[in-house]
Amino acid sequence: MTTTDPLQRVFFALWPDPGLRASLSVLARTLPANGRPVPAEHLHLTLAFPGTVGAGRVAEMAERANGLPLPEIRLTLEQLGWFRRPRVAWIGPAHAVPELEALAAGLSGSCRASGVKMEDRPFRPHVTLRRFVTRFESIAVEPLDWRPREMVLIESGQGGNPGPYRVLQRWALPG
Ligand code: ATP
Ligand code: MG
Repeated sequence: MTTTDPLQRVFFALWPDPGLRASLSVLARTLPANGRPVPAEHLHLTLAFPGTVGAGRVAEMAERANGLPLPEIRLTLEQLGWFRRPRVAWIGPAHAVPELEALAAGLSGSCRASGVKMEDRPFRPHVTLRRFVTRFESIAVEPLDWRPREMVLIESGQGGNPGPYRVLQRWALPG
């Protein structure tokens, strides 16, 4: 990276197809919590979050991702939860999904190999449904079966500042 390398805020994610996105959006809007629903077009499951890095590193991470084995993934979104500190309510799988964990670990490895410092916190797969949540009560929800077809590299905002999402690259998942 050079000092003139433009900054990009990026992350790898699983990208819901329109049908699941619509179901998640209904849930985001009707969940018994305060805060603000995530816009339908932003709903995703983060696999790895490099954050704000130089464009050269983004290209390198994408190139390394091209070389990763992409597993067939099936999961059921069925458990609501709340991360108190970032104040987000989410839905996620109730059980471990080994293929998902392997993919997330592979991507984190690709990011690290590209010189990006990644957080060591454990991977907690989830789709954020509402933000700015200070009151949350979990309810039983209709389980949503998901066979993700696409992994994406997203740029969030511009110049390293958060904002609307833009898909930089897509990878088809098998299955
Ligand atoms: P905004 O921050 O403007 O409200 P956003 O949270 O949708 O919008 P980003 O902050 O760019 O956009 O985050 C993109 C995704 O990465 C979100 O799913 C977010 O929860 C996740 N994320 C952000 N920071 C981290 C982190 N340190 N570790 C793991 N995931 C993160
Ligand atoms: Mg954020």
